Amino acid sequence: MLDVADALAEVLKHARPLKPEFAALTTAALRQVLAVDIAADIDVPPFDKSLRDGYAVRAADCATPAAELRVIEEVPAGKVPTQTVGPGEAVRIFTGAPIPPGADAVVMQEHTQRSGERIRITDPHVQPRQHIYAQGTEMKAGTTVLAAGTVINPAAFGVLASVGKTAVPAYPFPRVGIIVTGDELVEANTKPKPGQIRNSNGPMLAAQTVRAGGLPRYLGIARDDRTITRSLIAEGIDVSDVVLIAGGVSVGDHDLVPSVLQELGVTIHFRQVRVKPGKPLLFGTSPKGKLVFGLPGNPASSYVAFELFVRPSLRVLGGHQQSGPRTMQLPLSEAIAETNDRPTYRPAVLEPHETGWHVRPLPWTGAPDLVGMQPADALVVLPAGEIRVDAGMRLPVVLLEAL
Ligand code: AMP
Ligand code: MG
Repeated sequence: MLDVADALAEVLKHARPLKPEFAALTTAALRQVLAVDIAADIDVPPFDKSLRDGYAVRAADCATPAAELRVIEEVPAGKVPTQTVGPGEAVRIFTGAPIPPGADAVVMQEHTQRSGERIRITDPHVQPRQHIYAQGTEMKAGTTVLAAGTVINPAAFGVLASVGKTAVPAYPFPRVGIIVTGDELVEANTKPKPGQIRNSNGPMLAAQTVRAGGLPRYLGIARDDRTITRSLIAEGIDVSDVVLIAGGVSVGDHDLVPSVLQELGVTIHFRQVRVKPGKPLLFGTSPKGKLVFGLPGNPASSYVAFELFVRPSLRVLGGHQQSGPRTMQLPLSEAIAETNDRPTYRPAVLEPHETGWHVRPLPWTGAPDLVGMQPADALVVLPAGEIRVDAGMRLPVVLLEAL
């Protein structure tokens, strides 16, 4: 049985970034990853511009106490100055407007007194270049402003707009087909009859997919029937980059998934991982290199298996440079004493302290317990065996949400 680290390494060995496509810079591209370097086409700002409402002046003219200057023009943002500022002259200027030739500083209007066409400068310390945002300070034409591998966050949208990009080559979000298996399952809109349970894995895995940067496509319930299971999985492999099949992967008579995958030509790389929850975990690749995960049927197990193995693979397919999982060493808020036969990923919450984040394990009854898992924003990693960890000691923690 593989350890978590070896199983993850095996998964990542088969995960490759998807082929970049042009992404239109609508908000739908939020969190896609840039596939190329982006260079500025122009200087930004494209001209020396004023950072204040006030007067463009020659700093040297303001050295004498209560210097008086003659206002020769007014330049609001969006207009171009027509005059050169000569000795003893000033131009009324507004934030964002180009600095007129001849001027080398802006005096804030709060530091002036105006009477008619004249102003008096009340600030005796006017410095050359003050309140001027020089041409090309933020970016120079031809230089890279966003490197390949950058996550397109909201500020990146602004940067791309300022260099005139309306579409950029980016890694597509991986398409994730989701299938759940089991004769006992009914969908959420149905009241279960005796022996039935509602399908919680389908909606949960779809939401985890979105959180991890994938595009979920729910394909439905596969009955524990070989023909139905095979046709649904074949469809999943066809329409997705990654297929998640929840349930039916252990060794029971009704666990059809492993043999059906073999019939479909899927190479199975492993079927179990030494981890709690989530031991029955299958990973395979289709003849065309699609990734196939057989996740445990128990909802909390499925949840943890997704975070440990599926999320990192989606990150790689989506072009992210860090696959994760995102792990930190954090102090425990309270002691833990327990015995586990496998390394255990316990739901936990992060708590802010004066010295930084602490982690508090949550009460949890095991693999089927999704209510216990739900508040978790982290998983605290406990080694196998009998352990006693005091409050304040550090343990590895897998982050589920961004801090
Ligand atoms: P299996 O791996 O198919 O043996 O399923 C293990 C356990 O998880 C069984 O108790 C199933 O009823 C339950 N289970 C399987 N799939 C789901 C699902 N989609 N939603 C909720 N529970 C499930
Ligand atoms: Mg089953």
